[in-house]
Amino acid sequence: MKLGVVGTGYVGLVSGACFADSGNDVICVDIDEKKVERMRKGEVPIYEPGLNRVFDRSIRENRLRFTTSLEEAFKESEILFLCLPTPPGADGQADLSFVLNVADDLGELFNKYPGYRVVVNKSTVPVGTADKVREAISAKTDEEFDVVSNPEFLREGAAVEDFMKPERVVVGAGTQRAADAMRTLYEPFVRSGNPIIIMDERSSELTKYAANAILATKITFMNEIANICERVGADVDNVRRGIGTDSRIGKRFLFAGIGYGGSCFPKDVQAIHHTAGQYGYDFKILDSVMKVNELQKVSIVEKMKEYYDGDLAGKRIGVWGLAFKPETDDVREAPALYITDALAKAGATMIAYDPEANETFQAAATSVALEAMEFTTDRDEVLKGVDALVICTEWNEFRRPDLDRFPKMMKTPVIFDGRNLYDLKRAKDAGLIYVSVGRPSVG
Ligand code: NAD
Repeated sequence: MKLGVVGTGYVGLVSGACFADSGNDVICVDIDEKKVERMRKGEVPIYEPGLNRVFDRSIRENRLRFTTSLEEAFKESEILFLCLPTPPGADGQADLSFVLNVADDLGELFNKYPGYRVVVNKSTVPVGTADKVREAISAKTDEEFDVVSNPEFLREGAAVEDFMKPERVVVGAGTQRAADAMRTLYEPFVRSGNPIIIMDERSSELTKYAANAILATKITFMNEIANICERVGADVDNVRRGIGTDSRIGKRFLFAGIGYGGSCFPKDVQAIHHTAGQYGYDFKILDSVMKVNELQKVSIVEKMKEYYDGDLAGKRIGVWGLAFKPETDDVREAPALYITDALAKAGATMIAYDPEANETFQAAATSVALEAMEFTTDRDEVLKGVDALVICTEWNEFRRPDLDRFPKMMKTPVIFDGRNLYDLKRAKDAGLIYVSVGRPSVG
């Protein structure tokens, strides 16, 4: 099939490259000229495992092209995917301007290049957006088209794998014709029998928010259990194992830590909370989820302050991990942004290392944090002479360091671990003072 993809971020570029890899002709369009230039030269502008492979192969076989012209992408495509940002606007409401501005332009393009097309909202958008996109296009053309909701469930860090083998594909389509086109497109991705679930557009739009909201709630619930563990002297890892074996609860997403971040959970929880409010419903659980998560992100700083009797001034802190999660360079809403800011405000200085996110972090961190920070590309450099280490991201390379070396390298062997990476006995045996989340402190 001939596809257009508008927006080449984590969702658009991965979708475009994976659709091309499965034999479709794909033109990706982005307004960011520098990004398009880099991609034309064969450079993948984001870090995402496995993306280079599908990207290179599709370009080599001339199935994946890049442009800054919406017209060029529209002209040739049968299905046009909108993979545009929907950042939080006022009051947490999703800002639809990126999506609706493009929808506005599509009407005229339909007149210039007539013929039926499917326009797909792949961005995460509030209930009713398919109607708004339809209205924006219809206002300018009488051509035949369908608007479909097709929320994306890929996880950054495993985006290619998720896209290639989705657990399900959700499609909200108002006509059989559009549903059939989407089914044909996605069939190669669900050969193992996973479902393509066709439903109405509103349910499809809400499905994405419901999925992210329940995952954010699950994380937050475990963080609250961890906070209780700290107060009653229990170990959240034991509690996790104890409940995770119950198949109704499941083992995944039960790890306590320093809160959820990223470009999706925070904004999507806010957005569905806002939508509920617009329809006169007070979504109370999500209100608590957001409040608890805000506190959880900096809970580790509170522990540090407590350890240093409230005085972090002049302390030099090593920071391992800046990305909001491992295997990505994305730092949007990363706990590390809040932690470094709070540490800088408390008068500490920092040296930080992330395998992929040093650069993206520097573009996103607060100026207060950056003034107090230096960065290194050497994991061990962070440990040298520091008063403490704080771990913000659970990259694999942080999981099995030689802990026995820490006391020799650090000024004082104190670790504040926001991701519960180390066994308590192992930390104790290495001579560390080890403070984690929801587990007894060591040392
Ligand atoms: P992103 O910010 O990484 O990428 C968006 C891209 O759109 C950018 O490259 C930007 O330059 C481009 N763009 C902006 N305006 C444009 C225009 N008028 N024409 C062409 N390109 C334009 O965003 P993302 O993370 O890929 O997310 C896109 C949507 O998908 C959001 O609604 C998000 O909530 C949703 N989503 C994201 C993820 C994820 O893990 N990142 C997962 C599922 C769903």
